[in-house]
Amino acid sequence: MTYDYDVIIIGSGPAGFSCAMQSTKFNKKVLIVEASDESIGGSWISKGTIPSKALRAAAKSIQSFQSQFGDPKGRKPYDRFRMEDIMAYKMPILENKNRKIKNDIIKNEIDTARGWGKIIDEHTVEVTDQMGEKKTWSTRFIFLSTGSSPVTPDKLSIDHTKVLDYTTILDLTHIPHRLAIIGNGIIAIEYATIFSALGTRVTILSEDSETLPFLDQEIRDALFNTFKKNGIQLLHNVVVKKISYNDLRNCDEVTFREGEDGRLQVIETEQILYAAGKKPNTEGIGLENLAIKTDDQGRLIVNNVFQTDVPSVYAGGDLIGPTNLASASFVQGRLAAVHMFGIKAAAAAPDAPMPFAIYSIPEIASIGLTEEQAGERGIDATVGRAYFENMTRADLDHETDGLLKLVFRTDNLQLLGIHIFGENAGDLIHLGQSVMHLNGTIEYFIDQVLNYPTYSEAYKVAAFNGLNRVNRTGIKYRNQPD
Ligand SMILES: Cc1cc2nc3c(=O)[nH]c(=O)nc-3n(C[C@H](O)[C@H](O)[C@H](O)COP(=O)(O)OP(=O)(O)OC[C@H]3O[C@@H](n4cnc5c(N)ncnc54)[C@H](O)[C@@H]3O)c2cc1C
Repeated sequence: MTYDYDVIIIGSGPAGFSCAMQSTKFNKKVLIVEASDESIGGSWISKGTIPSKALRAAAKSIQSFQSQFGDPKGRKPYDRFRMEDIMAYKMPILENKNRKIKNDIIKNEIDTARGWGKIIDEHTVEVTDQMGEKKTWSTRFIFLSTGSSPVTPDKLSIDHTKVLDYTTILDLTHIPHRLAIIGNGIIAIEYATIFSALGTRVTILSEDSETLPFLDQEIRDALFNTFKKNGIQLLHNVVVKKISYNDLRNCDEVTFREGEDGRLQVIETEQILYAAGKKPNTEGIGLENLAIKTDDQGRLIVNNVFQTDVPSVYAGGDLIGPTNLASASFVQGRLAAVHMFGIKAAAAAPDAPMPFAIYSIPEIASIGLTEEQAGERGIDATVGRAYFENMTRADLDHETDGLLKLVFRTDNLQLLGIHIFGENAGDLIHLGQSVMHLNGTIEYFIDQVLNYPTYSEAYKVAAFNGLNRVNRTGIKYRNQPD
């Protein structure tokens, strides 16, 4: 049987793009279908990872400048810097990235079709362009990577359209003085700290009783201390009743209770960000034509090589969740391609612990077992800590808020988990990740020469700290008065 393509990919985000790149390296004929006529590269480039990280980088520079040199007139960052300055920082980054992706697609002879992709049968995809014209192509494999969209409030009464989501907040033309964020997930926390760095007074209204419960408790405590220091208010068990506009006071109002029986409270705010989660983009892509299964969250169910129940149809990225990260999507798209075309290396997807980073200010990154999880599993584990205030590099950068924590087995010092709160945590985690994946021990950090002054030195300090705890040495120092 001959087909028009070896693989047709619906959606050009990280999962689709990496599936295309890997397939073309196997000399396969590839078509990417993308619904957006403005950009290619998915929400990764247009609405998610890169624009939010560019905004963060600009906010971080402004905050560093402000905290290191202050302002002689006592102005807030939003009085000194305008959204236009931030856009001027962000736009070239996005344009560059878009250009680079287009070049990669052209250079690797990947075909593209602009329009809405839909599965017709297990080997046929239909694309409807903006004019409503339809084309169909046959293909040996289909890779679905249509991503996800922001969840919209359903039970909430909103009397105007000024509520932003995590995509429209990137179009703000000014820095708000006050921001109320509904939601407490990673995106909510990132935007809370980004706007706080710009001088905005931020309130986080969380329906949940806990925020980021999957993090190591000490790392959460460190984050919440930074919230307090920076005046970010975090309220839990919130039931939002109404969002309305107050004409007289020229502001938005959020009416809520803390707990169902709590008293009714109102906060005034200039802008509201509704960041209560994502939903997979499954509508209108033809899943019903093949009865492809989804889980209770609407995400596609795939096996460990990212194949659905229909052997010719694979899926990856936010469509399958639950990691919802560009980092994981890249790997999934590549592994799916490797499996489609029978390359041996794809026999199994890696089940090793996966790192993640939260690009709050400061950053958070984590991999492996937390101290609490090690305890729950009955593992005799010890921890070692390094505080950034004791690191020369952090001192030089005025980045002394931070903690690196190692969790390791007491009996053989094998590294089980790394948890970091502090600048560069997202990068820093990978040194520990490598040692962990090679079944290494904390002795690696003690024995090896690490560059100085660097943030990586925190590994050495934490390893010594942990070893002292195992050997019960250094206690006399702890008992000394300051
Ligand atoms: C604010 C924010 C910050 C983030 N920060 C990070 C971060 O720091 N690190 C990280 O790893 N991840 C981050 N993410 C997550 C990351 O952006 C997503 O996990 C990733 O983009 C998902 O990739 P994907 O390939 O599944 O789909 P997407 O990137 O969502 O792309 C899907 C594409 O499919 C297209 N499409 C949809 N339906 C169709 C159709 N029927 N036909 C044709 N095309 C279609 C869409 O137009 C879109 O271009 C962030 C996300 C957000 C929102």
